[in-house]
Amino acid sequence: MRVRLLPGAAGTVSREHFLMSYVIDGRVAIDAGSIGLMTVEEQLALTDVFISHTHMDHIATLPIFLDNVFAPNRKPVRLHVSVETQAVLERHLFNDVIWPDLVRIGAVGTKFFEWETLVPGQPVVTGDLTVTPLELRHVIPTLGFLVESPTAAVALISDTAALDNVWDRLREVPRLERVVLECSFPESMRWLADKSMHLTPRDVADQLTRLGRPVSVSIVHTKPAFREQIERELHDLKIPRLELFRPGEELVV
Ligand SMILES: [Zn+2]
Ligand SMILES: [Zn+2]
Repeated sequence: MRVRLLPGAAGTVSREHFLMSYVIDGRVAIDAGSIGLMTVEEQLALTDVFISHTHMDHIATLPIFLDNVFAPNRKPVRLHVSVETQAVLERHLFNDVIWPDLVRIGAVGTKFFEWETLVPGQPVVTGDLTVTPLELRHVIPTLGFLVESPTAAVALISDTAALDNVWDRLREVPRLERVVLECSFPESMRWLADKSMHLTPRDVADQLTRLGRPVSVSIVHTKPAFREQIERELHDLKIPRLELFRPGEELVV
C-alpha cells in the first residue's frame, strides 16, 4: 500500500502542513485539503474520497476537485462522510452561495458525486482496500481511518485530542505497521491544544503508550508557526520509530 501525503503549497516544495489530504494507491483520497491541486489525470484517477471532518484544512479543495472531475456519463466519485459531515457540507458549502448546490444540479443527468454514509466501526470495502472509520475526539464530529490492504494496515489519526477506545481497537489489528498521528502544537501552547482539541508532543508519547505495542509513527498536522519547536520537542522525547511525514512524501506499508 502506498500512502502519499499531498503537498499543501503550489510551486515550491514546502515542509508545512497547510492543507491535509492523503492519496492511497493513487485511487483513494483521505480528506480533500489539496486534492484539487493535483494534475487533472491524478484527480481523475480518484474513485473514492473519505472526509474526516469539515474543518477547512481538510475540505478546502473538495468543491474544486468535484468540478474538475465532472464529465457527462462519467461514473461519479463516491464521497464517504458521516451523517454530521454531510449535513454541514449541504448547509454551508453546496448551498449555491459558497459553491453551487451540486446535489440539486446533479439530480437530473450525471451526478457530480454519490454520498456514502460512514458509521464509526463499520468497514467500507473499495477495491482491495478496507477503510474503517474510527471516532476521534475533536471540536466537531471527526473520524480517523484504519486502512487495510491484503498485506498491511495503517491508521490515519487527525484531528484529535487524547483517545482511549481507538487505541483499544487498533491494538487488535495484527498487521498494523504504522500510525500517522497529528501533533499540532508544542507544550508552550498547551492551552490552545486543549481548547482546539489537538495533541502536543507529550500527548503523542502518552497516546502511543496507550496503544501498547510497537509501531512506526509518522507525525502530521504540525502548525507552521510551531513546526520547528514541535520537531525539537518530539526529538527530545526519543519516541522509538517516530519520524515526520513531510508533505509530498509517500510511505510504502
Ligand atoms: Zn480540525
Ligand atoms: Zn486540521
